[in-house]
Amino acid sequence: MSESTVAENLRSVLSQIRDAEKKSERPENSVKLCAVSKFHPLESLVEAFDAGQMLFGENRVQEACEKFSALEKMFSQKNKELPCLHIIGSLQSNKVKKAIEYASCIQSVDRESLLAEIEKQCAKMDKKIEIFFELHTGEESKSGYESIDSIRKSADNFMKGLYPHIIPAGLMTMAPFVDDEKIIRNSFSTLRMCKEKLNSEYPSLPINELSMGMSGDFGIAIEEGSTIVRVGTAIFGQRNY
Ligand SMILES: *Cc1c(COP(=O)(O)O)cnc(C)c1O
Repeated sequence: MSESTVAENLRSVLSQIRDAEKKSERPENSVKLCAVSKFHPLESLVEAFDAGQMLFGENRVQEACEKFSALEKMFSQKNKELPCLHIIGSLQSNKVKKAIEYASCIQSVDRESLLAEIEKQCAKMDKKIEIFFELHTGEESKSGYESIDSIRKSADNFMKGLYPHIIPAGLMTMAPFVDDEKIIRNSFSTLRMCKEKLNSEYPSLPINELSMGMSGDFGIAIEEGSTIVRVGTAIFGQRNY
């Protein structure tokens, strides 16, 4: 993809997001865009950054850190502020230490043991990080907490003060890859209802964000209450795995 195409695509996606906000009577700019740059070269990420994009999602820690350390070097002379990095892919415990070097949020927390490891590494670095609980709402995807009950167990541990370096800031899900809009919508509304329940049961936990919606379904996600959409292909083009 040529550089100008990325900027153009970004503009188009942003205007589709604003339209979807209007259509569902959501306040303007209430939905944030996480540009998913995984498998795309650093140049594509820089092109989106130059067009104003300040939040990026990557699903592999190694790749994310390579790109962000390169950005850091590029920007250090120019006094430019680094964009935010969210990790959105399933995270192995042994990658946590590296992940929190650059990430401001781990969107793909799917188990209690991962929280324990994030807390341990953040405590060592004296750093605070946001996390989203990923809920499994689709049939074929394997990732995410199995149920709201399993998230409650982690929420209980936040209430007990086990994770002082972690901010439980939201929920994330991936809808199943199907054509049936009803199934997709159902996955998003399940996540929204999960948030409503957790908010009423744990009013002191700041679970505010709903990260849902990708290139093919972010319009539906916004109608269902998404506050962060994670869009890759529609901005950067097809990925070459
Ligand atoms: C790759 C990925 C996306 C972006 O998907 P597109 O269909 O390219 O927009 C969003 N969320 C997660 C968790 C991903 O792994």
